[in-house]
Amino acid sequence: MSSPELHPLLGALLQGQRRALAKTITLLESQKKAHQQEARVLLQHILPHTGKAFRLGISGTPGVGKSTFIESFGLHLIEQGLKVAVLAVDPSSVLSGGSILADKTRMERLSSHPSAFIRPSPSAGVLGGVALHTREVMLACDAAGFDVILIETVGVGQSETVVSRLTDCFVLLTLPNAGDDLQAVKRGIMEMVDLILINKADLLPEQANLTQAQLEGALKLQQSTAKVMQTSALQNHNIALVWEHLKGLREAHLQDIIAKRQAQQQSWFEEHLHALVWQHFQEQMDPLLYASLQEQARTGKMDPVSAAHLLLEDTHGEKHLPENH
Ligand code: GDP
Repeated sequence: MSSPELHPLLGALLQGQRRALAKTITLLESQKKAHQQEARVLLQHILPHTGKAFRLGISGTPGVGKSTFIESFGLHLIEQGLKVAVLAVDPSSVLSGGSILADKTRMERLSSHPSAFIRPSPSAGVLGGVALHTREVMLACDAAGFDVILIETVGVGQSETVVSRLTDCFVLLTLPNAGDDLQAVKRGIMEMVDLILINKADLLPEQANLTQAQLEGALKLQQSTAKVMQTSALQNHNIALVWEHLKGLREAHLQDIIAKRQAQQQSWFEEHLHALVWQHFQEQMDPLLYASLQEQARTGKMDPVSAAHLLLEDTHGEKHLPENH
């Protein structure tokens, strides 16, 4: 890099070249220290070119029809002249080190379309780590000219929170017979959701109507403005209407979305700072003392608060123990 202004990938990325985007993603996800430094420089140059894309979170339990919906919805967006990127926050990759999403052929028609980009497979790591990279990858897609970025996750609670912290709007897919389920279990999710889609409404139309009424009642009680719609992703039913609704939401709540993005940037800074401070601390501390104190805290030989303070004191060589601890 001769000039700090120009990273060799930047020009091609901003032109929307696929190879440059793929290379950028590899760099952003690299575990190597030298790559991470390079990725940071690149990200710095990418950021001024971001902000135009509409960021949508899509969640739902396995089998609800997420892939089918994303394929229909994505192809509809492309018909409107838009470019679509699909990223996944896949909690299963955290546990198994591999991704279930990559195991099956997904979204065949969408993935082969030149106006679509589907991130091949999410990287494993802690959930926060996956989210960190997903945010960076999302920004790279934004800079590469993708108009709508869909961030998909399997509904297991924590991953929805992560996704809602990356996106402008959050869409939850559910089934025609899942009404009670949702009211009882998903209170936390109801708070972050902007649109609930009762998918596979073609299979159980009466159940779908009942569930819609139940969900609308539950949302009203929580003073939520989220809307409930019925879809059939398989038969392409109501897909255009979903896009009309989301577009309308974006236009009507532009100021809220700007404020939300600012809050997300602030938490990004804070999360990153925490990670950096911890990384720095780990490099400085005595790992044997850490292991010993951890064990003493675990077995109750020392109280965990004193153990933590002792490690800090040892590492920084100062007295940090507050009087009341
Ligand atoms: P995912 O695990 O949430 O990604 O779900 P998939 O998109 O893989 O869908 C699971 C199954 O449901 C597939 O066999 C789909 O063809 C089927 N499916 C998806 N959407 C619909 C729908 O709207 N109606 C019907 N009848 N089947 C659907």
